[in-house]
Amino acid sequence: MAVKDRIHMPEQPAEVRKTNFSEVALGYTPELAQQEASRCLQCKIPTCISGCPVGIDIPGFIKEIANGNFESSYKILKSYNYLPAICGRVCPQEVQCEGLCILNKIGRSINIGALERFVADWADENNIEYENENTKFQFNISKAKDKKVAIIGSGPAGLTVASELGRYGFTVDIYEALHEFGGVLTYGIPEFRLPKSIVKKEIAALEKLDVRFFKNIPVGYAISVKEILESYDAVFIGVGAGTPKFMGIPGSELNGVYSANEFLTRINLMRAYKFPEYDTPIRIGKKVAVIGGGNTAMDAARSALRLGADVTIIYRRTEAEMPARKAEIEHAKEEGVKFYTLATPVKYIGDENGNLVAIECIRMELGAPDESGRRRPVEIPNSNFILEMDTVIEAIGTEANKFLLSQFPDLKTNKYGYIITDEYGQTSNPKVFAGGDIVTGSATVILAMGAGKKAAQGIMKFLSENR
Ligand SMILES: Cc1cc2nc3c(=O)[nH]c(=O)nc-3n(C[C@H](O)[C@H](O)[C@H](O)COP(=O)(O)OP(=O)(O)OC[C@H]3O[C@@H](n4cnc5c(N)ncnc54)[C@H](O)[C@@H]3O)c2cc1C
Ligand code: SF4
Repeated sequence: MAVKDRIHMPEQPAEVRKTNFSEVALGYTPELAQQEASRCLQCKIPTCISGCPVGIDIPGFIKEIANGNFESSYKILKSYNYLPAICGRVCPQEVQCEGLCILNKIGRSINIGALERFVADWADENNIEYENENTKFQFNISKAKDKKVAIIGSGPAGLTVASELGRYGFTVDIYEALHEFGGVLTYGIPEFRLPKSIVKKEIAALEKLDVRFFKNIPVGYAISVKEILESYDAVFIGVGAGTPKFMGIPGSELNGVYSANEFLTRINLMRAYKFPEYDTPIRIGKKVAVIGGGNTAMDAARSALRLGADVTIIYRRTEAEMPARKAEIEHAKEEGVKFYTLATPVKYIGDENGNLVAIECIRMELGAPDESGRRRPVEIPNSNFILEMDTVIEAIGTEANKFLLSQFPDLKTNKYGYIITDEYGQTSNPKVFAGGDIVTGSATVILAMGAGKKAAQGIMKFLSENR
């Protein structure tokens, strides 16, 4: 039987969306979702599942969509993944579930992310509540309330631990340094990819579980690590890897040089794109360069474009090595972001007022593969050239915040400063667990959630053994 081509998800046209911050992808209608779901071959040994870090029963939830049973589909989905509306939107499906779909061999894989998003949005619109009935780990719940767990950081890792422990009745307090919860989902990923109303709804569902949320509390500053360790039976560290790395080249102090972290925080968390309605400003020039090829670089470039700039991505490898989601690279191109590959900046050039006016770059070529398996970029001697730019946004990666971790006694970290844990997130200090980017380095939302799930099991086991 010939499998029909993948059903395209409706989107805002590029010419329209590049002038607004509203969501680009508009989602399937029930009819389109059923058509796409009916392409699934319902493989006896479904390879897609092994590509999903939380092992969702993908053919199971898709079959229910194909049959029009959206509520049953939602229940299957939610029993594996607490944040499906988010993962359906931001997972890099092409290297996870969809990358392993057998239909790739004869055409395009099932649009698993879009179907996941459809079901989650449908359930929200129809006020479907989810009650978790099953648990793999049996804990004496009558005692759960007596056990107090502190979670540091409200990104996807911390939120997942909170949801897992909260639903079994533990006393859970979640501390967040910023004035809004959600971690990168709130301050990093822009509205046009992940509407903040969705993040807020997913978090509101947690509040019903008796999880207590404390904002504006950077642990290690506003409350000491000692106090946390003394007041709680177990602690989960989910603080991400949000400290930006910098190029550190001459001219970095010039006006107009941003870290992507600052740029995106102003836009997403502080709504600077709505200045003066919101009071945080953002200064952006006419010609903007974004350095990097990951999701952060694409988000910064597309945000700058929406503020009216002419935007060029500068990346030291080729497009094939870019770590960003393929859909975002395609969207960026459709919207008019230019790509300058095999080049890197060596110097920022300013005028007499200390404002950036140009970037000196050097051309690169690809050498032998490095430890990541990607071919290493190597400078071509004497190939320097100048690009006129008045703003540059560096999106070359992030690292661990070492200040907080150094305050935890007996906490072992690896040579990059990330926490070492066992498979259940337990660290070298038995009552301290960790997961997400602070363990793996910058990774993905679903991996942070998977780590949160495992750590919640580890914490329950630890607390049951330490009654
Ligand atoms: C711009 C950008 C775009 C991305 N796009 C994607 C994407 O499309 N798909 C995808 O899968 N992944 C994407 N990622 C990666 C993904 O967002 C992260 O892997 C994920 O958010 C990690 O989750 P986490 O819970 O470990 O940490 P985070 O989301 O970083 O959350 C950590 C939280 O801890 C808080 N915190 C830090 N220190 C303290 C302290 N001392 N006390 C209290 N709170 C503290 C922080 O304020 C933050 O809220 C993107 C990342 C960025 C930056
Ligand atoms: S959670 Fe992510 S990887 Fe898993 S099925 Fe959904 S979109 Fe795919």
